[in-house]
Amino acid sequence: MVQRTRHTLPAQRAFCRHCDREHTLDRESATGAAKKLMASLDKELSTEYLYGKARGKMFGVLLCQTPAGDTITLKAFSGQFRGRWKVKGWVPPLFSVEDFDSLNTPVEQKIKALGREAERIPSDTPAKRALLLQRKQLSRQLMRNIHALYRLHNFKGEQCSLFDLFPEKQGIPTGTGDCCAPKLLNYAAIHNLRPLGLVEFYHGRRNKSGSRREGEFYPACENKCAPILGFLLCGLSE
Ligand SMILES: [Zn+2]
Ligand SMILES: [Zn+2]
Repeated sequence: MVQRTRHTLPAQRAFCRHCDREHTLDRESATGAAKKLMASLDKELSTEYLYGKARGKMFGVLLCQTPAGDTITLKAFSGQFRGRWKVKGWVPPLFSVEDFDSLNTPVEQKIKALGREAERIPSDTPAKRALLLQRKQLSRQLMRNIHALYRLHNFKGEQCSLFDLFPEKQGIPTGTGDCCAPKLLNYAAIHNLRPLGLVEFYHGRRNKSGSRREGEFYPACENKCAPILGFLLCGLSE
């Protein structure tokens, strides 16, 4: 799915279950702002770690119009940047970071403690299996509770949770809602900004499978973003 910058990028499309059709958003018009960001990124953030073991990361920009008619550029990084959800000048995640921390920190410590305890027990014993099972259930419950923190807003003034957008039996992939596109669109919807163009690119050392390379533009991902973008774009285009 590598798209060279010399070609016009096709618009982002996503199916909206509510409207029973696709919504679209232009990508090409945001490439200029994205290239500018690519050029300044290494000065703006400490990006060295993206060239090491951690490998690179997706970044995104959203051109939008303010209620006063000005065009502004929002920017986002996918997931966390060096362990931080919030970095000044970048759009925040779809949940309250304070709520996330107070939920995540104690449970994560418990999960790690269970792991250490399990390491001390000989493998293939009932005690070890019980501990590992307990750890697995704990992290599954934590994931569910974390997913419950996400609030998604669209351009109709509606909001919903991740559970509303994924069929009950289908699990929600880890990291859903943490990509650049949902962060940017959600922020725009909350702040009464009208999206004009959105594009995502990769920066840093190429990923293990080689499917992501520095400086290339990529459409929104299939497994995490496709199921939620229809809702997020709803109300934007008629
Ligand atoms: Zn995604
Ligand atoms: Zn819709």
